[in-house]
Amino acid sequence: MTPDDTERYSRQILFPGIGEAGQARIRNATIAIVGCGALGSFQAEALARAGVGRLRLIDRDYVDYTNLQRQWLYDETDARNESPKAIAAARRLQQINRHVLTEPLVTDLSPSNAEELIAQSDLILDGTDNLETRYLLNDLSVKLNIPWIYGAAVGSYGVVMPVVPERGPCFTCVYPEPPAGVQPACDVNGVLAPITAAVASFQVAAALRLLVGSEPFVSTIQTLDVWTGAFRQVNAGPRDPSCRVCGARQFDYLDERRRVPVSLCGRNAVQLHEHTRSLNLHELADRLRPLGDVRVNEFALRLSLEKYQLTFFPDGRAIVKGTTDVGVARGVYARLIGA
Ligand SMILES: [Zn+2]
Repeated sequence: MTPDDTERYSRQILFPGIGEAGQARIRNATIAIVGCGALGSFQAEALARAGVGRLRLIDRDYVDYTNLQRQWLYDETDARNESPKAIAAARRLQQINRHVLTEPLVTDLSPSNAEELIAQSDLILDGTDNLETRYLLNDLSVKLNIPWIYGAAVGSYGVVMPVVPERGPCFTCVYPEPPAGVQPACDVNGVLAPITAAVASFQVAAALRLLVGSEPFVSTIQTLDVWTGAFRQVNAGPRDPSCRVCGARQFDYLDERRRVPVSLCGRNAVQLHEHTRSLNLHELADRLRPLGDVRVNEFALRLSLEKYQLTFFPDGRAIVKGTTDVGVARGVYARLIGA
């Protein structure tokens, strides 16, 4: 450690859980941040300030004005220029700590590129907005034996769970199936900046603890609500021996044939099959009506939203008209159907 490092990180080194040895481990670490929205941008800034060696920033999206209320690192210039989040984040992180190597990757994490993007990381942080990607992260984590830290926030409520393969339950042990029906989503239910910061803070603290490796790992699920002040920590329980992921090592979400989004040739549209669960179209219609013109029957629901026209089907399939970009279409879908 250089004298400059010793000074810069002195308050962190003074903390007994970290010390000089812990700081050296933090400096040698590579962390993949998947999704650079509210959670991911906070994680990236906190980890850059903490002196992490290398940050891999994976995001498919562009900065817009609705992001500025809760997404750290970005400013009005980024929104005006519609800068890719990964690029804007890396630029700002270099101003905060030039010693951190940043690798911005403007792409959608998918079964076809996931292993390549995540391999060689010591840790994965969840900054995503959808369950499909979280199950994909869990498959990757177990397959490659890399811990990941689940985090989610909507409204004023959030949840955090670190997953350490072989030492505790995986995400699928705890949540074997995606929840049925429509889930809360930030574009419908709103989200407060302080819950995103709180969730991301717990994720970063768990990341530092895991990197330093000085304390025993206990598998917990934390839930918190910054509006009511409710806070709960429960034991995540033991591993499920019958778990299809960490038990049978069956990695369905890494299967490239799984619900591959298809750009519909010549139609300026993308067909998605993001969910294994079925959708209740009438329930969904009630939720989406405040956002735009909704028409629904037993076979399909159609929503006109900004420049897109979305058609949802009862089997969870959707067609997003108005783009040929699979990443954009998945983003629009995830924001409406929820995480
Ligand atoms: Zn499992």
